[in-house]
Order: sequence, then C-alpha cells, then structure tokens
Amino acid sequence: MKISSLLYIATLTITLSLGTNITHAKPLQDYVPVLDNVKNNAFQIDPKKGYLVKQVKPNVYVITDGIWQSAFITTGKGVILLDAPQSFGQHIIKAVTETTREPIKMLIYSHSHVDHIGGSQQLKNIPDLKILANKHIAQFLLEKNDPRRITPTETYSGNHVVKMGSETIQLNQHGNYHSTENDVFFYLPQQKFLMVIDSLTPGYVPFMDFDLTHNFHEYLKMFDAILSYDFDVFVGGHLSQVGTAEDVRITQAYVKDVYETVKRVHAQTNQFEIMSDTAKKIGWDNKFLLFKVFLEHIIDESAKEIEARWINKLAGVDVWAKSHARTALIYVRWDD
Ligand SMILES: [Zn+2]
Repeated sequence: MKISSLLYIATLTITLSLGTNITHAKPLQDYVPVLDNVKNNAFQIDPKKGYLVKQVKPNVYVITDGIWQSAFITTGKGVILLDAPQSFGQHIIKAVTETTREPIKMLIYSHSHVDHIGGSQQLKNIPDLKILANKHIAQFLLEKNDPRRITPTETYSGNHVVKMGSETIQLNQHGNYHSTENDVFFYLPQQKFLMVIDSLTPGYVPFMDFDLTHNFHEYLKMFDAILSYDFDVFVGGHLSQVGTAEDVRITQAYVKDVYETVKRVHAQTNQFEIMSDTAKKIGWDNKFLLFKVFLEHIIDESAKEIEARWINKLAGVDVWAKSHARTALIYVRWDD
C-alpha cells in the first residue's frame, strides 16, 4: 500500500472517530424544498427581461431580478432611487423610463456594500444626478475609490429627511446591524413603506451568519427598531417578495430562538469533557482542533433543535441554521 493511501486511511479514521463534526456535507437533494406559501408570495420575473418593476404603493416601485431588490419613488418633481444593485444596474434607467416620464434626480445609498450600490456606475451619465449618503458611508467609499460605486455628491450626519415633490423620505441611522459602516433605514411615513436592506428576508430565515452581521448585539436590537415604525410594506433587499410587520415578528422569534438555544446548549456543555474525550483519540497537542470539536458540538446540537422547530415555518432553515448557531455562539461565548 502506498504511503498516500495509508495517510488517507489514517485521516479518515480520525474524521470518523470524531463523529459528524468535521466533514460530511449533506447531499443537496436532502435539503427541504422552499415552502409553498413562500413560493406563492414571490414576484414572477420574466427571465428574458431579467428584472421586474412592481408597484407596491402609490408612487413607490420595487425593482428586483429575483435575488436583489432596490426601489424608486416618483415625486412629481423627479425620481429618487433607493440603492442601485450591481446585478441589475444596467436595467435601472430602463426600469424607470418604462414606468414614468419623470427624470431621475437622486440616488440614495443604504450602505456601502458593492452588491447593493455597485450598479451606480451605470448611472454616471445621468445629468445633475445627486448621490446622497451618510458621511461614514461616503468616507468609506472615498477610501475604497471603487469605480463601481460612485462617490456621493452630498453627505449628511445622523438622521436626515429628503423632501421632493409630493414625497418625504426619512433616512434613519440605527446602529451597525449589518455592515462595518453605518446602516440606514429608508422610511416613507405617508406611504407606510419601510426598506431595511440586508436585515431579513420575508418568508425565509435570514441569510448566512444572520445576514453577514458584523455585530450580532445590534442585529438582535434591530427587530424592535424595525417594529417601532408604522408600515405595511417591508423591503429587505433580497429575493423577490416584500413583507409585512408579521414577517418581521416571525423572523425575530426565530433569531431569539437560535440565540436562546445556543446559550442553553453552551451552558450545558462541558468543554473539558469533550476536549478530553477527543484528546484520548488524538492527544492534547492540537488544542485548536480540540476546541473546534467542542464549538462544533454546540453548533450541531443547537442547529438540530432549531431545524426541528422551524423547518415548516420558514424557508432555508436547513441551509443556514448552522451558520446562525455559529454567529450566536461567538456572541454568547465572547460578548454576552
Ligand atoms: Zn450588505
């Protein structure tokens, strides 16, 4: 037998004796399909066209390609764009002109991420386009000097109100629940329309790592912040459907359940016992590996419980539950 084969068997033995913690991705066919009620709420996008404009309120339109969402507002004095996703940036001008004869006057950024504002490069030839961003987002974009994300022409601090024609848009700062820079809520009080990008996805569990949050402490608080607004249309920035306050409450209950489950499983799990059991097989030298086995035990045990409780309530539970448990665990163990 070749040395490489022996090494393979030795590795396999270690992997198997440590249980399911290290390898073994689940076969793709074993993931549950998207729930029927969630599929039925999705907007249908013509694949040939590549995007859809959906009116959700008088003067308020959502644009989506099925994965990303942005919005635009007609005001009687011009159009205001809320974000410009990179994926359908080339369609934004057409999406607006097929809906209204009003010219595009302003683009406002929700946060600094390329996927939500990287389509701004497609708008740079619009005459006198005003691009507005929170000063922290603007500073970050200045440092990045990324041609895909056009530098704002105007900045503001804290909360800010934009008035144009018939419409009023509140730009409200709410802690960094998602990005490293500021995250901004877009709220139209007359329309009861709320757009909180990369927060939650109605009908689904949040995206990986609780929507890539850099700050789970703020992410937990974000739900009460959202629910303090009076709104009946909610846009989260991803996939195609919009939601309501009820969707926010359901996702909040899910996130709370993940957090409390991880907290309990972590408190009940004996770190030394798991590390000692593992050390009997591989010795004590590789402390990082021993610690990883302990952490992954908590993640796996928590995710098992979460999946059992939520699999029929939200889509994507078996896709992201482990990543959610991992994010919650980092918070529970080091911050809580
Ligand atoms: Zn983002």
